[in-house]
Order: sequence, then structure tokens, then C-alpha cells
Amino acid sequence: MLEYPGSEPGFASPLALAAGVEWIRLPLSFPPRHVNVYRIETSGGTILVDTGLGNRETRELWDSLWSRAPCSKVVVTHFHPDHIGQAAALEGLGAKILVPAPEIAKARQIHALGADELTLHMSRFFIAHGLSGSAPGFGRGNGYRYMVPVLPERSLALLKGALDFAPEWSVRFAGGHSPAHALLTRDQAPIVVAGDILLPRITPNISVWPEDPDADPLGDYLRALDGLRRDLPTDGLILPAHGSPYRGIHERIAAIQAHHAARLDLLREAIGTAGSVSAAEMLLRLFPHELDPGSLPFALGETVAHLNHLWRRGEIERPRDRHGVYRYMR
Ligand SMILES: [Zn+2]
Repeated sequence: MLEYPGSEPGFASPLALAAGVEWIRLPLSFPPRHVNVYRIETSGGTILVDTGLGNRETRELWDSLWSRAPCSKVVVTHFHPDHIGQAAALEGLGAKILVPAPEIAKARQIHALGADELTLHMSRFFIAHGLSGSAPGFGRGNGYRYMVPVLPERSLALLKGALDFAPEWSVRFAGGHSPAHALLTRDQAPIVVAGDILLPRITPNISVWPEDPDADPLGDYLRALDGLRRDLPTDGLILPAHGSPYRGIHERIAAIQAHHAARLDLLREAIGTAGSVSAAEMLLRLFPHELDPGSLPFALGETVAHLNHLWRRGEIERPRDRHGVYRYMR
């Protein structure tokens, strides 16, 4: 059983979790309806980890929170809108922004894409995996730019290893959910700021995206989990971006690993029975309840991630049929 030491605070009402560590929940306009950010006292000043969505509601919450307790530095774990959304606004209030270099590069790349380009890439990806080309939810402009209107003007590269201004904290990266998601760890009174990598109840989306169709993000994520299981202390307090802070990291990692192992087994079995499958044919097997238009690209991306993982391990092949659709087969 995971252990939850704090009870859920209201939005924008900081809750002290441990000495010098505050949990702040911010609203999200989509499930899971909230994102957690953390204010942490370090030997080099108070830092904030993650920032919330780039909308007016969150901006107004920061205006009042910040005047009471500003932070000199903001660490952004990864490029997703609920994490980087307010970084530009907080930069404007005087904070230095630290982001892993591959994450800010990804943010700038997506931010710059035209809506037509995004739709075209997603349609081609849908077709290549056996769905019709009209990708719902991707024809309404650049959704990323809608949730992150402005990116920080300058950001410092967050590097692996000890934080230079607070050496009791170290940074490590995990792939799979995004290019190089940062986790912050402290050994003394152990804490892991885990962002989306180690959520207590749900698993982070692990997707292949159109711009990198041969990628193996599930392999990246599983490798990261192995490293975390090896290196992190069993008794640490885990601070996730969604859900409640918890203890029981090894148990949680084992459960996430088992979840993906079961999905890989399901696909192996389906390929064994049918001879070959497309991602579209496997979508409903992996996601029987999650096919509203907005989540379809994530469900397809995650299905392809599991199939690509088997392909990249050399267990199966991935030729295209005469319609150009990938068939995964032994
Ligand atoms: Zn994320």
C-alpha cells in the first residue's frame, strides 16, 4: 500500500508537507483537473518546481501567490503545457527559469509549428497506423500555443548532476513521457520531485508522435524506471505532478512496470493469434474506455509505443501493406 502523508489542499493554498517543502495545487481545464507544483527551500534560495497552465486563471493565482512568497528560480520538469505554461509570466516577475535543454528545444519546435502542419502530420500518422486521416481535435489550430501562449524568453539549461546553487539536490532525467523529463532528488531526508514520471494512481502517457515515428519511448521509460528503482531510497517522499504526494516508490515502480509488461503480453498474444495487427486494430484492446476525440491521438500514440517497443526489441517486424499501413507481425 502506498502511504499518503498529506491531505489534498484547495487550489492555490500552499500546504507544508515537510520542512521547507510546500505543495501547491493548481486547476487544469482537462483531466485530471489539477496539477501539483512545489515550492522548496534549498541552500541556494527557494525554488518552484513547475508552473501550471498558461491561462488567465492560473496567471491570476500566481499574481497573489507570488507577492506573498516569490521564488528566485523556477525549475520546469518538461515541456508539457501544465508544467511550462506560466514560466514566461514568472520570468516576467523576476524568476530565473531552468529547463532541460531537450525540453525547451521541443517546446520551441512545437510552438513554432503552424496549425496546418500539425494537422497534416497527425493525419498521416493516423493513416499509417490504420485509422482514417481526420484526426479529431487536431484541426483547431496549434493547441500547444493555445495552452502556452508565450514561452520564457531566456532559460538556463538544467543539467544532470548536483544543482550548482544547491548541491544537496541533484537532477536526473527520464525519457519516454517527453525527451528528458527532469526529476529532482535529495538524499538527506529523502525527497523525489517526480513530475509526471512516477504518478501514484495513473501512468504517464508514453506515446510515439508523428515527428519521430520510429521511436521507442516505452523502452526509454522502462530503462528510466529501472534506474530509479536501483538508485532511489525506499523511504523517500515522492512529490508527483498529479495525485497526492506518497511514500512507497519501489512498490509503485513495480506496479507501473507490471502494467506495461501486461500490455506487451496482450499484444504478443494478439499478434500470435492474428498473424499480424495494425495499431488501429489494437487500440480498443489497450484503451476500451478512452476513445473520446481528444484522447484518441494519445491512445493511438501509446498503442504504437507498445508495438514499436516489440519491434525495436527485434521480437516482431513492421512492414507496410499495400495501403501504406504498418502491420506488426512475427
Ligand atoms: Zn507531462
